[in-house]
Amino acid sequence: MQKSMLVAVAVLSSCSMMQRSQTEQVVAATLVSDQQETELGFQVHEELKKENTKFLENPDVGFYVGGLVQKLTPFADKDRPGVKWQYFVIDDPKTVNAFVTPGGRIYIYTGLLLTADTEAEVVGVLGHELAHVVARHTARQLVAAKGLETVAAMALGKDPSDVALLAAGLVGKGSIMAYGRDMELEADQYGGKYANAAGYDPKGLATFFEKLRAQGELPQFLTFLSTHPTNTERIEKINAAIVANGWTSKEQGTAALKAIQAKIPR
Ligand code: ZN
Repeated sequence: MQKSMLVAVAVLSSCSMMQRSQTEQVVAATLVSDQQETELGFQVHEELKKENTKFLENPDVGFYVGGLVQKLTPFADKDRPGVKWQYFVIDDPKTVNAFVTPGGRIYIYTGLLLTADTEAEVVGVLGHELAHVVARHTARQLVAAKGLETVAAMALGKDPSDVALLAAGLVGKGSIMAYGRDMELEADQYGGKYANAAGYDPKGLATFFEKLRAQGELPQFLTFLSTHPTNTERIEKINAAIVANGWTSKEQGTAALKAIQAKIPR
């Protein structure tokens, strides 16, 4: 283990949540390189194909989702430059979910597109997903799941296939995208920030959670871990961030979303 890393780890124990997040991001960047993240993302994509995940081929829907992603990535790139963002639409109208893999592959289920009432809600969720990559949550999650020593040994690159093995194990359990409570709340904050910066009402993410809470429906990205924040806590924190940061963007994009929903197979 490199000395700078040990120092950074030691600092983790005694500072505020925001400082801790920044320190963890530095540690994560040291442990898992951009190239290893890309390999992890590739590995997950191969697993998805093996599991016969059905990707939606409709070019109109793909173009639409791509357009939303492109509205957000310039702001995400400011926080973490160099990510090669890609997006995929999964044809599964019954699943209300979205996730992102290290390296920048974004996956959104048609069930989420159909459940949202406004484009602002979709944008809020997408912004939340981008944040997991920006804030290097997978590397931080790897450390939490496997222990610092294991990940550090992997980071030293003695055996390049370690990354693939580690990924396969985590993909199988679905835990590669299972972030802790603090990370989810952090991603919500970024999601609101990016949505607002792109001109969309940052309340979209909160109203989406409100809808899920009203339906008593918990998408997988909310239920992976028992430490997950409740929808109520997330809604409160997002609304507080909107006030604290003075986010005032208003775009809802309701008509555009309705037009695309008509083209999604149910
Ligand atoms: Zn998340």
